[in-house]
Amino acid sequence: MEKWPIGIFTSVGAGLGAGLDTVRALGIHTVQLHSPHGPERTPERVAHFRKQFADAGVQVTVVFAGFEGESYADIPTVQRTVGLVPADTRAERLQETKDIADFAEGIGCDVLGMHIGFVPEDRGDRTYIAIVAAAREICDYCQTKGQRFHLETGQEKADVLLRFFQDVSRENLAINFDPANLILYGADEPIPALRMVGKHVKSVHCKDAKWARNPGREWGQEVPLGQGDVNIPLFLRTLKDIGYVGPLTIEREIIGEQQRKDIAEAIALLQRLRAAILGD
Ligand code: MG
Repeated sequence: MEKWPIGIFTSVGAGLGAGLDTVRALGIHTVQLHSPHGPERTPERVAHFRKQFADAGVQVTVVFAGFEGESYADIPTVQRTVGLVPADTRAERLQETKDIADFAEGIGCDVLGMHIGFVPEDRGDRTYIAIVAAAREICDYCQTKGQRFHLETGQEKADVLLRFFQDVSRENLAINFDPANLILYGADEPIPALRMVGKHVKSVHCKDAKWARNPGREWGQEVPLGQGDVNIPLFLRTLKDIGYVGPLTIEREIIGEQQRKDIAEAIALLQRLRAAILGD
C-alpha cells in the first residue's frame, strides 16, 4: 500500500459515518467501517458487504465496534454509557465485540477498533482491573484471527493510556489516534500526546476541534479539518516523525450535504499536506 492513503470513516446503516456512495463519489480507496447492528451481520450480509467493498475497490482498514445504549450526549453520559466501562452490560458487550471481530474477519479486515470507555486513572480501581481483563480477552480473541485491537483515543491522558498498555500487555493491542477527541474531551494536548504514545499508533482519525471554555466539563466543538485547534500540518509532520505510514482516515461527525462538502475539502487539504510533507 502507498504511504498515507486517504480514507473516510463510513457507516452502513449504523452510527455516524459517510455512506459508500460518498466514498465512491470522492474516489477514495480505504475506509474504516462502523460495524452494522446484529441483524446486518448474518453470513448473507457479510458476503454482500464483502462484495460491495470489493466491487468499489475499497479496502476496509478498521471495523469499529459500537453498542446499543451508548450515548455521546455529554461527557458524564459518555462516562456512564460508552464501551466496556458500564459493568451491567460488560459481559454482553464483550460477546458482541467478539461477534464484530468475526464480522470484520468475514469482510476481510484485520483490525477491530473501539471506544473502550473512560479508563479510570487509579490502577487499583475495580473498573480499571475489569477493563484490563476485558481488553486482554478481546486481544486474545482477535489474535486467533490474526487481528489487532485498536483503542480510540480521547477520553484519557497519554500517560494513563501508556500505563494501560503495559498492564494489558498484549502485542496486538494498538491505538487509533484521534487528535480532535483529546480536545473535545479536554483530556490532553494532541501533539505531545501523539509523540508520547507514537509507537503504539497503527491507525488515525483526521478530525479537528476547538477547545471548550471549560475543557473536560463541557464538549469542545468539532469543526472541519484544518479549522480547529489540532494544527493539522503539525499533526501530519508528527505522524511522519513517529514513522506512521497507515491510512489518513477522515472523520466528520455530522451528516448530510455539509458532511460531504467538508470531507471533500478535507481530502484536498490532506493531499496538499501529504505531497508537501512526504515530498512525493
Ligand atoms: Mg474518532
